[in-house]
Amino acid sequence: ERKELENYRGRETKSASGEVYELFCNIGKPEDAVKAVDADGEGVGLFRTEFLFMDRTSIPTEDEQYEAYKKAALILKGKSLIIRTLDIGGDKDIPYLGLKKEENPFMGFRAIRYCLKNRELFKSQIKAILRASAFGDIKIMFPLITTMDELREGKKLVAECKADLRNMGINFNENIQVGVMVETASAAVIADMLAKEADFFSIGTNDLTGYTMACDRGNNDVSYLSYSPLQPSVLRMIKRTIECGVQNGISVGMCGEAAANKLMIPLLISFGLTEFSVSAPSVLNVRKIISTWTKEEADKVTAKVLEMSTQQEIVEYLKSVV
Ligand code: PEP
Ligand code: MG
Repeated sequence: ERKELENYRGRETKSASGEVYELFCNIGKPEDAVKAVDADGEGVGLFRTEFLFMDRTSIPTEDEQYEAYKKAALILKGKSLIIRTLDIGGDKDIPYLGLKKEENPFMGFRAIRYCLKNRELFKSQIKAILRASAFGDIKIMFPLITTMDELREGKKLVAECKADLRNMGINFNENIQVGVMVETASAAVIADMLAKEADFFSIGTNDLTGYTMACDRGNNDVSYLSYSPLQPSVLRMIKRTIECGVQNGISVGMCGEAAANKLMIPLLISFGLTEFSVSAPSVLNVRKIISTWTKEEADKVTAKVLEMSTQQEIVEYLKSVV
C-alpha cells in the first residue's frame, strides 16, 4: 500500500474534477520541516511554537526564536510556513511561566489570552517571526481567538513590532499575512466578521470539536463527544467558517486532525476548503483521497449529510460511499 501511495509523490493535490488544493504539514520543531519536505508536503500549515518553549527552564529569547523560525523557513525554500503564536495552557503547561493551576484550564487563561496580557513575551515572538519572514513565505497565526478585540489587539502588536524593526533598519516582509485559527464556537459564529479583518483562516478541529460539544479533550469519559468532528453541530461550524472565508475572499485551511479523515474530506471539498494541513505520514494518503472525488460527487454526498441529524447516521452513510 505504501508503494501505491508513492505514486502520489511529486504531484499536485487535485480533485478528480480538477480543483487544486494546498496540502501542508503540521510541525512542532524547526527540524520537523525536513520531515514535511521528505513527506512531499507543499509547505507547513501549522508550526506549533509552544514546543520551542517546552523542555527548557526559561523563555527562549527573541534571537533563539528567530534562529528557529529562520531555520524552518530555509528548509522549506520558499514554501508556505504558517507560524502559530504561543498556544499554552489547556493541555500544554510550561512550568517556568508560572501559570496558576486552574479548575478549568481549557476555559481559562491560555493561548492568545495569555499572550495579550504578557506583551513583552508576545512581542519578542512576533519580532522573531517578522525577522524570519525575510527568509521565506512566513505567515502569522493566532490561536484560540474568540473575539474581534483579540484579533485587533494582536494585529496592533504586529504593527508595533513592524515599526520597531523598521526603525532599527531590520528586514522583514512588510506584507506578512496575519490569520486566525478558528477553533472556538465563538470564532466560528463570528467568522463573517473575523473574515473581514483576518488574512486567512485555519480551522482547528481538535479544539473546535471540544469547544462546540462543551467537553474537555483530555477527559476520557466524554471523549466520545470531544473527538466527534462529524457531529451535525461541528459540521455546521466548519461549513459556516469556510463559507464566510470564501465570501470574503480569504483562504481557509484546516489544521486539526479531521483534515486527514477520509470521511470528512468530501465534505471539506464541497464546503470550499482550499488548504489541508496534516501530519507528515498522512500527506500522500490525503492527496490520494482528494484525487478520488469530483466536486459534483462531493456536493451530492454533502447535501445528504447536511440533512442527517445524528453522528451515527452520518458516519454510517459516509462509510458506505468512501
Ligand atoms: C486544533 O485545535 O485543532 C489544533 C490544530 O491545534 P492544537 O491541536 O495544537 O490545539
Ligand atoms: Mg487548538
